[in-house]
Amino acid sequence: MQTKFDTAYLISASDLLSYKKVPKWDFHIHTNHTDGKASVLQVFEKAIEAELEVIIFTEHTEPWRSKSPHWFQSYVDEIVNLREKYRNKIKVFIGLEANAVSFDGQVELTDQMVERAEFVLGAAHRYPGLDTRKIAELSKNEAIDLEYKTLMGLAASTNIHAIAHIGATCSKYCTPFPTQLTREIVKEATKNNIAVEINPVYHKPLIHFLEMCAEENAMTTPGSNAHGFGDIGLIVRELESILKS
Ligand SMILES: [Zn+2]
Ligand SMILES: [Zn+2]
Repeated sequence: MQTKFDTAYLISASDLLSYKKVPKWDFHIHTNHTDGKASVLQVFEKAIEAELEVIIFTEHTEPWRSKSPHWFQSYVDEIVNLREKYRNKIKVFIGLEANAVSFDGQVELTDQMVERAEFVLGAAHRYPGLDTRKIAELSKNEAIDLEYKTLMGLAASTNIHAIAHIGATCSKYCTPFPTQLTREIVKEATKNNIAVEINPVYHKPLIHFLEMCAEENAMTTPGSNAHGFGDIGLIVRELESILKS
């Protein structure tokens, strides 16, 4: 995709491991425009209080998740106004977390979103073609296969900058997603210059995931998957604690 995101804000997994210095960045934050608790303003305040240096708002794009059909314009306006106001305190990007809608890397974004978003996280929240079927009702093999195909599509997508929480949907709703397949997705994403999210909620133990990303020379984005107040900057605290020990 046309890049409005400075790739200097991607960090290689091996640098993260070897420098033992964690960037104060959080690239996965939701607000009360969808299922988060904090307003855009409250996220700014919390992030500044936590001494974060760079954050990306990554609101969900599925229309059913938002409270107003016009939410996106307000979201952009709020971020643009506040990042100007706080420009000496924190660097902020307008991002989105977009669900995969095909097995070849298409994601759910309106034209306006493509135009305004500076960073797009691709995610497999549902699998293409499921219709009304629930992921919990799939067989283990089917869920693994669909998660894999969806994420391999994202790993070759020209519409996203990074892949969110690899394996999360399958692991949360059906069965643990196999490590070997996670590695194949990381490999494919790296080949295509797509970063891989380091997510403290779903990648446990986090150090194993980070080591695998380093073995595959992956570029990463640290993302807390924050939906509340206390979890803004969680990824920084988690990485600091594992890299210290
Ligand atoms: Zn997600
Ligand atoms: Zn999310």
